[in-house]
Amino acid sequence: MKKSIIKSLESSIMGDVFSQKEFKNFYSVDSSSYQIIPKVIVVPKNEKDVINAIKIAKKFKSSITVRRTGTGLVGSALNTGIILDMKNFNSLKITKNNVTVGPGIIKGQLDKKLEEHKKFFPPNPSIGAFCSVGGMIGNNSSGSRSLKYGSVIDNVTEITFIDGNGNKISLPKNKKVSKKILELSKNIHVEKFPNVTKNSSGYRIDKIKSIRDSHKLIIGSEGTLGIVLSIKLKTKDSPKKKILCIVEYKSITDASMNCIKINKTKPSAIEFVDKTTLNQINFKFSPKTQCLLFVEYDKNINLSEKKLKTTVTGKIVKKLKSDSEINRWWRYRDSSLYYSLKSIKKEKRIPHVIEDAAVPLESLSEIFKILKNINKKFKTKTIVYGHAGNGNVHVRLISDRREIAMVKKIAIEYFDEIIKLGGTITAEHGDGLARSEFIKKQYGKENYKIFKEIKHYFDPENVLNPGKIISMKSTIIKNLENF
Ligand SMILES: Cc1cc2nc3c(=O)[nH]c(=O)nc-3n(C[C@H](O)[C@H](O)[C@H](O)COP(=O)(O)OP(=O)(O)OC[C@H]3O[C@@H](n4cnc5c(N)ncnc54)[C@H](O)[C@@H]3O)c2cc1C
Repeated sequence: MKKSIIKSLESSIMGDVFSQKEFKNFYSVDSSSYQIIPKVIVVPKNEKDVINAIKIAKKFKSSITVRRTGTGLVGSALNTGIILDMKNFNSLKITKNNVTVGPGIIKGQLDKKLEEHKKFFPPNPSIGAFCSVGGMIGNNSSGSRSLKYGSVIDNVTEITFIDGNGNKISLPKNKKVSKKILELSKNIHVEKFPNVTKNSSGYRIDKIKSIRDSHKLIIGSEGTLGIVLSIKLKTKDSPKKKILCIVEYKSITDASMNCIKINKTKPSAIEFVDKTTLNQINFKFSPKTQCLLFVEYDKNINLSEKKLKTTVTGKIVKKLKSDSEINRWWRYRDSSLYYSLKSIKKEKRIPHVIEDAAVPLESLSEIFKILKNINKKFKTKTIVYGHAGNGNVHVRLISDRREIAMVKKIAIEYFDEIIKLGGTITAEHGDGLARSEFIKKQYGKENYKIFKEIKHYFDPENVLNPGKIISMKSTIIKNLENF
């Protein structure tokens, strides 16, 4: 008699295999609004387990989706077949300007270890202490400091992974695969790629300028091209001093236009919060304040402070220099998602599918106009915060209407406008279930054809996280939990 997929996994995996209801429920959700119940969960102990799990997925024509802490916001880690939790892959080895880690390591643990060496890994998602490096690779994550230091894709030198054929590949070391990637990159229509400083949509083949860049293709690929086993990250010296200035503005347009000039003073971060977050801060802002910018410098502190004074059109209400004060104020900004959710009644929350677009900085103020039009047309309200220096805003939608079709209509309208401005539909959270169907629109059909070739090269049987990035079906309003 033919063995079941669960029995096959149980007899060949050295790590754990779970198929009980409570485990499947646990792994059916992440931090998105979606829910998909998987068939079985595998917690591989070693590389051989990963290869065997892929073999079994292929044999049973099942999907295999890798994940770690599930803090992803668009359902990238959810699927119907095998879920692979990489928690046992948590090695860490620090060298002079690098650290080599397993994908299961938690970012907070990495930060602590690097601090002991007065080093840091720059990309800093607001969820920081809780997400994994594997998930950051999967989504090409970033954070406030990405303005100065770039996203994950700019801070990695090597990746080792198992592709959908079961092959172990190290990039950029593997010359054959690197050459193939470079060859594919030569055919792209660059003008169709967004003109932004951060982008987590589609496959980032635009980043491949030589075979030394080939590993970058895996970054942001959401587990669709390979299961990452090991990553060599670049580290930087921790800044000796920092200054964080809090600037209040009476107008959102004024604040977003001012970002263009402030950016020229070379800050390490320019972050935006609207009234929802500022109302939670224990400080007396002027009653007319509509929004704040958090502007941080980690170099040439005195000179930068002087430059900022002559550049801001808002009012600097705080200049923070001690680590404890700086960290305290960053916690307010990092809690914006929490404050947003806290201030919206559960029944008025609209699933977050347009929460992560970015546009060229010069067009940042346009995003607020687009949102104003959407609010008028669909009778919605929005809460906004985000990485203003990168033209990247996070949007929370509020509505009394519980119409699922409206969610898709809003997304279509918003993404069309973002693409017209030369922007990306996702700057850091990835495509997942919410945005994969819009990738063809974002990049055009020629580039999309190349994306399909990439997928076919690494995963010809489409077992690795199918339905993400290369998507045949609309998934934006399917599988929404409790809506
Ligand atoms: C409150 C909150 C704030 C956030 N703030 C930010 C922010 O400021 N910036 C930002 O960029 N993101 C942010 N995020 C999104 C999210 O935290 C990040 O994308 C994070 O890096 C995901 O890590 P994870 O371990 O939870 O990954 P998961 O959700 O488990 O997985 C994410 C993706 O990575 C893939 N993946 C995981 N492991 C591997 C592997 N070993 N090999 C290949 N692919 C893999 C998965 O298949 C999936 O597609 C935030 C989320 C929350 C809830």
